[in-house]
Amino acid sequence: MRSFAYARPLTVMAAVQALADASPHARIIAGGTTLYDLMKLNIEAPQALVDVSRLGELTTFDTSGTRELVFGAMARMSDIAADRTLQTDYPALAESLWLAASPQVRNMATVGGNLLQRTRCAYFRGGAPYPCNKRQPGSGCAAIGGLDRSHAILGTSTSCVAVYPGDWAVALAAFDAQLDTVSPRGERTIPIDELHREPGETPHLETILKPDELIVRIRVPVTVAGRASTYHKIRDRASYAFALASAAVALRVDGDTVREARIALGGVATRPWRARDAERALMGGALTEGSARAAGELAFTAARTGQYNRFKVELGARTIAEALMIAKGRAKTS
Ligand code: SF4
Repeated sequence: MRSFAYARPLTVMAAVQALADASPHARIIAGGTTLYDLMKLNIEAPQALVDVSRLGELTTFDTSGTRELVFGAMARMSDIAADRTLQTDYPALAESLWLAASPQVRNMATVGGNLLQRTRCAYFRGGAPYPCNKRQPGSGCAAIGGLDRSHAILGTSTSCVAVYPGDWAVALAAFDAQLDTVSPRGERTIPIDELHREPGETPHLETILKPDELIVRIRVPVTVAGRASTYHKIRDRASYAFALASAAVALRVDGDTVREARIALGGVATRPWRARDAERALMGGALTEGSARAAGELAFTAARTGQYNRFKVELGARTIAEALMIAKGRAKTS
């Protein structure tokens, strides 16, 4: 590991200033569950770390609001997952946290940092022997034509097919969450749908955040569709594994008629992926196993598969269909 400067500010403005002072070579450290791994692998070598773990003002959260839920960026995944109101009124949000990582990681990781976790592409993490445009721009992509079983089939480019690995951001995307950030230029609000970038020709640029910009808060608009929601995650083993396909689904139904459908996908795309065509196809009709399956298939019409990940088209369609029927069941009991 290489040496680096270390700062542990006590206020948001001091943290932002410390980032700006060392920009663009500083990295924010919160729970440390992603960055320390990458530093040990020599994938990341920041010249300065700004530790935001002492920013107590960012650790609180409130799920009792009548207009929005508010989560401080430094709140722990495990604390939010255990919130009874969230479990009842927004099960998709709570489940996306429960089904992520291990209890030890959830106890350390923050919900702000969780949004920024980096891909698990083995070629990215494997280092120098492998060309990787995300790690070293212009070097190529070992996954294209390589072992791509876990890679993306939506939002890919000829430069990168890495999958976005997170769960929480996918559930937040289904609910149109917004992020508040602070930088030396002031505050701004970013819709979650705009935070993550598709790789295009610049896969090393993963979000629209500036190097000196800190996420301070996540806000979720209140919706009755929250009660009839689920986060359905399919993976190789039942615990401590990343999604091969996942779907965050929320519904508002009137009798048998779908009045509102929200579908976001994980494990299959280069960023949290909103399946808007599938949502539109469900609107105004009855939700049956047949229409759920049709919506699932529609979500993958534009899929581009590689050598070993073609199964994700069928798996993804089934994941959506199952999630829709789970959410429908919850609509009846809510
Ligand atoms: Fe790198 Fe992306 Fe290719 Fe993986 S898929 S090797 S992260 S460029």
